[in-house]
Amino acid sequence: MKISVAPLLKQPVGHRVEHVLAEGPPIDPRGENADLLDAEITAFEAEVHVTHTDPGALLEGTARADLSAECARCLRPISIPVRARFAEQYYATIHVESGAAMDEAPGDAKTIGSDFMIDLTQLIREEVILATPVAALCRPDCRGLCPVCGADLNERPHTHEERTDERWSKLRELRAALAEDEAPPGDRT
Ligand SMILES: [Zn+2]
Ligand SMILES: [Zn+2]
Repeated sequence: MKISVAPLLKQPVGHRVEHVLAEGPPIDPRGENADLLDAEITAFEAEVHVTHTDPGALLEGTARADLSAECARCLRPISIPVRARFAEQYYATIHVESGAAMDEAPGDAKTIGSDFMIDLTQLIREEVILATPVAALCRPDCRGLCPVCGADLNERPHTHEERTDERWSKLRELRAALAEDEAPPGDRT
């Protein structure tokens, strides 16, 4: 969703407007919020307050989003809820009424171009990515996958004793061989 801040910048400094936006699940891949899909966002809602500040517009608000991810331990697909609170200053580069160039914005600052449009979808996408946990788990005590056989330890808790396993299998072979010798067909009795 893109908004024009031109009307806001024509109002006195301190003037404020509110935008509420939400979509999903699902988010339309051909819609105006489609860029959220490449951040694995499946649904979101956001409230954005836009205030006319001296160098431009301050965007403050909250975003809530659901992300599709996989558990960092057991790899099963999960949906993680993410909440972000944000405050971003956008610097006007051109005076809205006179068209005169404004003082240069700080190097890494977000700027408002000559079309006076701000893309709220991109802002929400960035803020949700920043608030996303690095390693999400399906549950806090997820046991993960067995490092030996790869089985899900939540479903089948187990341990391996690799060396003994080998020895046991040798022993089993030996036993089987002995059993063949010692347990002959019934006619021996
Ligand atoms: Zn898990
Ligand atoms: Zn295992």
